[in-house]
Amino acid sequence: MLLPCFKEVKELTVELVKTPSVVRTSGEAECARRIYGFYSGLEYFRQHPAQLILQRTVEDDIERFNVLAMVRGTQGDSRRAVILLGHIDTVGVEDFGSLREHAWDPETLEGLLRQMDLREEVQRDLDSGEYLFGRGALDMKSGVAGQMWLVRYFAEHPEELNGCLIAIAECDEEDNSRGIISALKVLKQWKEEHGLEYIAAINADYSTPYHELDDNRYVYCGTIGKLLPTFYVVGRETHAGQPFGGLNPNLVTAELTRLIELDPALCDEAQGEVTMPPTCLKQADLKGAYDVQTPLAAYAYYNVFMHSLGPGEVLERMKEKAVTAFENVIAHVNACYKAYCQRSGHPYTRLPWKGRVYTWAEFYRELLQHHGEGFEQHLKQFTLKLQQSRPALDLRELNLRIVEEAWQWAPDQNPAIIVFNSSTYFGRVEVTGRTPDEERLLESVKAAVAEVQEHSDRPIVTKMFYPYISDASFMSLGGEQQELEELAENTPAWGSGYTHPVEDIAAINVPVVNIGSFGKDGHKLTERVHMRHTFEIVPNITYRTVKRLLD
Ligand SMILES: [Zn+2]
Repeated sequence: MLLPCFKEVKELTVELVKTPSVVRTSGEAECARRIYGFYSGLEYFRQHPAQLILQRTVEDDIERFNVLAMVRGTQGDSRRAVILLGHIDTVGVEDFGSLREHAWDPETLEGLLRQMDLREEVQRDLDSGEYLFGRGALDMKSGVAGQMWLVRYFAEHPEELNGCLIAIAECDEEDNSRGIISALKVLKQWKEEHGLEYIAAINADYSTPYHELDDNRYVYCGTIGKLLPTFYVVGRETHAGQPFGGLNPNLVTAELTRLIELDPALCDEAQGEVTMPPTCLKQADLKGAYDVQTPLAAYAYYNVFMHSLGPGEVLERMKEKAVTAFENVIAHVNACYKAYCQRSGHPYTRLPWKGRVYTWAEFYRELLQHHGEGFEQHLKQFTLKLQQSRPALDLRELNLRIVEEAWQWAPDQNPAIIVFNSSTYFGRVEVTGRTPDEERLLESVKAAVAEVQEHSDRPIVTKMFYPYISDASFMSLGGEQQELEELAENTPAWGSGYTHPVEDIAAINVPVVNIGSFGKDGHKLTERVHMRHTFEIVPNITYRTVKRLLD
């Protein structure tokens, strides 16, 4: 027997979709208030008001909130606690074009989509009546709705639980993860106050078919890691009339992208599962305005996924790519210059360029040795001032500005590349069964999936790494202390603009599983959630997993 949750989870999903909550807009707060209102209306939380929190995010430049709700089981006196996790923010709606204003209204949107010329697969799904459309329907308000339904269920049936169930509806997942980073503080506080022992976290983010003929539904034990290696490339400026007199940093970054983009050798493998290769998310020079001088510097960053590598190892690989990029470019410009000299009858002499590549940690150490503490103090002051004057400055740019400022102090101003991390780090989480908690989680999920499988017309397959980045990464340390030190010393804004909350994570540190929404085209106009699987099958798998974990 399945719990009859379809209708209500659908209604909750529609209500949440109709509350626009694009990341970095006031909608995030509005959506959190709605969820808080839903829980506040329950008798259980009227009886236990301290177990429901509308939490403003900490150290944030905008006003937004998480909602944390805790149900304490009455079946026994266990202190074990399971965390349900879901994000309430969505990406923007630029992809909806002229349908933008209807992105939040599944019914109207469906009618409008019917009038459009859509891909055959989308048309088929539209005609099937099995999908619900709308921004956030898949990613991931339906997942949050399922968790809300379950919290209400257990609030009405606490006798079914021996232990605690905590649900976190968190903001800012699509940007800087300030929601989950803040929520960790409440988890830590509850752990101390109630003597909780966290044993597992269940995320409900979405999954999607791997290819058009893929009929499976997926559950993932663990989650992928992600780093954003960033390259600051300094060339040598020159007048466009004397191009061989300089080294164009645009050429170096172009070569970096050629070497890194989609390179299968940069895929990372563990448990027989292979990550997607890196892709470039930004490539630009740093010239402010047009003139006939070549740019002095350029930069680029790449999304790199990890299954087994730590941040230090990824940066080391990236450093090797930077060395090769330099060598290739220097060989290329020399070949061009030689051919040009031959054609125009000038004598050829080798161009003076040499490649130099540093990690941020190496560069910083060198400057510190050369200038002493004055440099360190200056850079701290610079960062502080920049943050005060531009609190909403993009984290990637903040890191870049710090590197640019440090470069001013470099005694050798010849071309160089500095490799660093410029974004929020997502640690990989692998659940193999090596600890009792992991073993219990794996067994619970396996049994829950097997039971619910009978009611599903599609195979429910369990894999290891949730393949999209998710805040579940903040539930587990996922790596050794030394790895996190390498991350710290290679992230210029560490400690001011961003810190990976190592201590807070260590207080929770549980294995994670993703039992989430299923659908297609997340982050696209045709984003749609498969209703039967998401509104009925998923909450039932989660329900049975929780029951087994807290029995
Ligand atoms: Zn998501």
